[in-house]
Amino acid sequence: MKRTGILFQIVLSLSLAAMLVAAAIGDVARRYETRNLQAQLKEQAELTISLLSGLMLESIIVEDVPVLETGLIEAITRNPKLLKIQIQSSEGVPIAKAGRTDEVGPDDFVMYDRPITLDGFDFGHMVVHWSTREGQAMVQEKVSQTIMWTVIAVAMLSLLVLILVNVLALRPLQIIHQRMSDAIAGLSNRKLRLPWFASREFRALNFSVGVLEDTFDERDEREYALEEARKAADIANRAKSEFLANMSHEIRTPMNGVIGMAELVLETDLDENQTMYAETISKSGSALLTIINDILNFSKIEAGKMELDRAPFNLQTAVEDVVTLLSPKAAEKNVEVTLRYDPSLPECYEGDVGRIRQILTNVAGNAVKFTAKGYVYIEVSGQSGDDQTDLRISVTDTGAGIPDDRLDRIFNAFEQADGAATRNYEGTGLGLAISTRLLNLMGGRISVRSELGKGSVFTIDLPLRIRPDPPKRSQDERDFNGLRALIVDDLELNRVMLTERLDTWGVDNVAVGSAHQALELLLDARHDGVHYDVILQDFQMPGMDGKELAQRIREIPEYKDLPIVILSSVENIFEQDMRDQLGHCEVALKPLRAAQLRSVMSRVLGDVPDEAPQVVQAPVSEMSDAPHVKLLLAEDNRTNQIVVSRMLKAAPIEVLIAANGEEAVAMFQEHHPDIVLMDMMMPVKDGIDATVEIRQLEQKLGAGRCPVVALTANALQSHREECLAAGMDDFLSKPINKKALLGAVGKWVDCGPQAKTGT
Ligand code: ADP
Repeated sequence: MKRTGILFQIVLSLSLAAMLVAAAIGDVARRYETRNLQAQLKEQAELTISLLSGLMLESIIVEDVPVLETGLIEAITRNPKLLKIQIQSSEGVPIAKAGRTDEVGPDDFVMYDRPITLDGFDFGHMVVHWSTREGQAMVQEKVSQTIMWTVIAVAMLSLLVLILVNVLALRPLQIIHQRMSDAIAGLSNRKLRLPWFASREFRALNFSVGVLEDTFDERDEREYALEEARKAADIANRAKSEFLANMSHEIRTPMNGVIGMAELVLETDLDENQTMYAETISKSGSALLTIINDILNFSKIEAGKMELDRAPFNLQTAVEDVVTLLSPKAAEKNVEVTLRYDPSLPECYEGDVGRIRQILTNVAGNAVKFTAKGYVYIEVSGQSGDDQTDLRISVTDTGAGIPDDRLDRIFNAFEQADGAATRNYEGTGLGLAISTRLLNLMGGRISVRSELGKGSVFTIDLPLRIRPDPPKRSQDERDFNGLRALIVDDLELNRVMLTERLDTWGVDNVAVGSAHQALELLLDARHDGVHYDVILQDFQMPGMDGKELAQRIREIPEYKDLPIVILSSVENIFEQDMRDQLGHCEVALKPLRAAQLRSVMSRVLGDVPDEAPQVVQAPVSEMSDAPHVKLLLAEDNRTNQIVVSRMLKAAPIEVLIAANGEEAVAMFQEHHPDIVLMDMMMPVKDGIDATVEIRQLEQKLGAGRCPVVALTANALQSHREECLAAGMDDFLSKPINKKALLGAVGKWVDCGPQAKTGT
């Protein structure tokens, strides 16, 4: 509905009011005038009657009708308002009359009946019919005039009101409105002023709009400044990212030389000292590389360039991977890493497993790093809904602990609890910062509780989407349902963990805390008729260790063939003759994965033969055969040329070297290699252009597609995409180690049937 303007509304209201006022005043005027008219008529009639009766009294007494009628006619003729006159005797008998009333309507006259008297004697009546037409016309005219004047007066008044409203209210309002709209639209219109006569209220309103304008102005200025700052920051950020990419390239290239050469040196005959030197070079190189990766990772998150993967994965395997990775380091310090994984958790989730592994490696890695003795305990639990689990991973250690005042700060970049001055542990201080940011990206969080000198608990909360269709379990696994097992471990944590795992497989189990208890139980079981199918026992236990326990069990005739699984965190605990002596016994290395425990149990229970050796995909032979693979290496850096050729020396591969992209294309055309390793940054022509040209050449010649593997020191994902877009097939990140190089080459070309990968 279209809104009407206020002026129109006022006009409408005033007109309505004028109409009402005019109608009311008209009505009052009509009544007043009518009353006046009646009084006048009555007065005239009475006067006429008394005059006529005085003049004609004699004729009336003698009833001289002709004289009377002449007189009456005379009277009517003289006064046109007199319609009819009748004289009646005192008995009411008509004596004389003149005039008529049948020509006018009944409303157009009034009738007066008056006695004719003289000195108290009654001589009859005179009835007069008096016309009201003229009087009514007069009344009507007077009323019309009154109404007209009223309307004129009200109209004038309305006009005045309109003008005043317009000038005093509407104009200032319009000005204020204009200013307000301008302010909102971001146009400052300070030239618009209120007229001098504007009222106090409008001035106050106008002032407020001024304040609003100022506020908007300030806001605009702030926004502009912010926008400028953001642009500057963007530029700086881009510069930072580019700088980092370049830096990482610059550092990785020489690192390739350092690490690669150290590896090659280690393969030659060295004395003890030389070996130690070379190993140190190699290890330091790797440590440096970790730091570079951390910094790169962190700046990528900071630049908002970190993209999370979304793929199905098995969480338990991922967590176990991390535990496996950390265990050797922990074992060196005699620190035990235990994992308790809630068996009721769904098997398959969706998310970025690489990042989750990274976070856990960091937190659990810290726990191992900062724990000198005791244990590191990782617990994975969660609350599962229909399609999501609120996962909780807690990492408890018995290590150094963190002072209260540092607790919050360790999550900041480059912050370390022990401070720079007293650095006892290596690290960049970036691990937790990266983990916190990654968790934020995933909608999770990390928190810590710690007691100095006693240990810390890091808790990771992470919502994870459940993947509804978990991948099928491999079919060749044995069903353990209904078996009975005895668990022997001095650590309660391990007992709980094993119990839970066995419970989920339907294995009935009993757990005891020492070898002595186990022996007692087994001895009693013989008499009670309880049968055990398998024993899972720890190796390092106080009092009697696993080895002795196993021997003592074998001494009991009933248990000579009872399958035993010994869980140990050190390798090679038995010599061969000891193994033979123990018979049905398997050693499993801690930390134990579910799948590993399953297969070792299957083995010891006797239905799976010894684990078949794993077949590695397309292995590259190291035996010197006649070279039958031609590899073109496009690389400008002399050191890297040597490193790569030396790494490939033992394989049956002929290495051709091109020092830049142009040479590479020429050599490709001449030699038709089986595979190309292409450095990205080279003088004359870079790797991308060279690859594009090689692909074009192939098309022109109708030749098959030769695999091109990019060698790059640039670790950014965008780079990788650029390589693939240019027509490369694979990607090797510098510094290259021998295993990765051989693996990548073996993936693309068949280097012979011999099965031994590089060491
Ligand atoms: P980094 O380990 O490379 O120094 P982090 O960001 O991973 O960096 O950790 C930051 C700091 O937090 C560490 O230097 C250490 O002082 C403290 N910290 C982390 N985890 C633990 C832990 N489990 N026990 C004691 N201190 C820890």
